Amino acid sequence: MTPGEFRRRGREVIDWIADNMEWVEELPVLSRVEPGEVRRRLPPSPPGRGEPFEAVLRDLDEIILPGITHWQSPNFFAYFPTNASGPAILGDLVSSGLGVQGMLWPTSPACTELETHVLDWMVEILGLPDRFRSSGRGGGVIQDTASSAALCALLAARERARGRSGTLTAYASEEAHSSIEKAVGIAGVGTANLRRVGVDETRALDPADLERRIEAEEAEGRAPFFVTATVGTTSSNAMDPLRAVGEICRRHDAWFHVDAAMSGTAALCPEFRHHQDGLELADSYCVNPHKWMFTNFDCDCFFVADRAPLLRALSILPEYLRNRATESGAVIDYHDWQVPLGRRFRALKLWFVIRHYGVEGLRYHVRRHVELARGFAARVEAHPDFELAAPVPLNLVCFRHRDGDEKNRAIPDRVNASGKAFLTHTKLDGRFTLRMSIGQTWTEERHVEGAWRAILEA
Ligand SMILES: *Cc1c(COP(=O)(O)O)cnc(C)c1O
Repeated sequence: MTPGEFRRRGREVIDWIADNMEWVEELPVLSRVEPGEVRRRLPPSPPGRGEPFEAVLRDLDEIILPGITHWQSPNFFAYFPTNASGPAILGDLVSSGLGVQGMLWPTSPACTELETHVLDWMVEILGLPDRFRSSGRGGGVIQDTASSAALCALLAARERARGRSGTLTAYASEEAHSSIEKAVGIAGVGTANLRRVGVDETRALDPADLERRIEAEEAEGRAPFFVTATVGTTSSNAMDPLRAVGEICRRHDAWFHVDAAMSGTAALCPEFRHHQDGLELADSYCVNPHKWMFTNFDCDCFFVADRAPLLRALSILPEYLRNRATESGAVIDYHDWQVPLGRRFRALKLWFVIRHYGVEGLRYHVRRHVELARGFAARVEAHPDFELAAPVPLNLVCFRHRDGDEKNRAIPDRVNASGKAFLTHTKLDGRFTLRMSIGQTWTEERHVEGAWRAILEA
C-alpha cells in the first residue's frame, strides 16, 4: 500500500468510523450472533493473493459489524464503561502510524517523555498526592490494564518485603476485583495466602476486621505484606475507607495499593475527591482512563510513591539493550516499570484527550454522568415496584424489582434482547441485582430515559 493509496483508504476508514458513531445508537447494543456464526462466515483459509480493499471493507460491514457488541453506543449501561472519543481514536491512530516501540528512552525519547509528562498532569488534574509525581522518588507509568497494575504493585511489595520471615500474606475485601486474586496467583504468593476481609453495610472494607486479622496472623508468624483497597468496587461501587486502611498498613509495614480503576476519574471534580481521602498513605494507585475518561482501551495510569522497589523487581538489562542514555542514569526506561519489554505509545491518546477537552471539559462530562445516575436512582426510588440495592456515590445504580430473583432475572434478558439498551447484573446480599452503569461518552438524558422505559416494559 503506497502512501497515496493509504491516504485514500485512510479517508474511507475514517468515514466508516464516523458513520458508525452516527448510527451506533440505532443498532442493537448487544450483538445477536449465535456462537460460531462469525467464524462460519469466514473462509477456512487465508487468501493466497492479496484482495481488493473494497472486499475487506465489505466484510467489515457484513461479517464483523453484526458480531459487535456496541460499547460505544450511548445505550450501553453494562459492566463498567470502556468509553472512547474522537481525539482518543485519532491519538491512537497516530501511535499506530508512528509504529513506535517505546521500551527504552532512546527507542523514542518523545514516547517516554510525553508519558512522564502526561502522568504528572494526571497527578495535578486528579488532585493526587505529590508523592506520585516523577520529580520525587515516585512516578507514573501507563500499563495496559488495572490487572497489570495490581500485579506490578504486588511484585514491588514482594520485593520490599524480601527478607521478612513468615509466609507472605495479602489482604483485600470480599468485594475487591478478581484481578487481585489473579495477581496473587501469578506472583507465586499463592491464592491460599490471600485473605478476604469483611465489609460493612455499604460493602466497604471493614478496617477493624482488617487489623484484627493482620494482628492475629502476625502472632502466628505470618508476614502481612500487601493490602488493596478499592475506590468504587466493580459489583456495587463501594468506597473503601482509604485513610483507615492506610494507617493500618503503616503500623504493620504492609504495601498499600489503591485500585480506582473506574471511579478514580471522578477525582477530576473536587467535589468527588473525598472518596480518595487518605490516598497520601498509599504506596501505589491506579486509574483507567480507558473506563470513564474518554480514552479508548487500553490505558491504565499506575503510580508509585517510591519507584525503587518496583524497579528492583522488574529491571533487567541484557547486553543488546545497553545504551549510553540508560547508563547515564538521566532517563526513564519504562520497560523496567512493567512485565513485558515492548510498549506502545499510549500517552498520545491521553494527551490528545486532555488537550481536546481541557480539564473543565472533562469535568463537565463526568458531572453530567453522575447527574444522570442520580436522576435514574430517583426514578427507581419513586417507583412502587423497584428499590435501590446500594448507595449511589457516583455513576452506578444498583437496583431491583421488589418481586424477587426470577422477576429480576427476566428484566435484563428482555431489555438486552430488545436491543434498546444493554445492562448487566450482580448479586448483593445473595439477591439478583440489576446494574445501571452510566459513563459512555455520548450518553444523554434521553438514552437513560429510554433504558428506564425498556426496563418498565420488560
Ligand atoms: C474494571 C476493574 C478492574 C480491572 O480492569 P482491567 O483494566 O480490565 O484489568 C480492576 N478493578 C476495578 C475496581 C475495576 O472496576
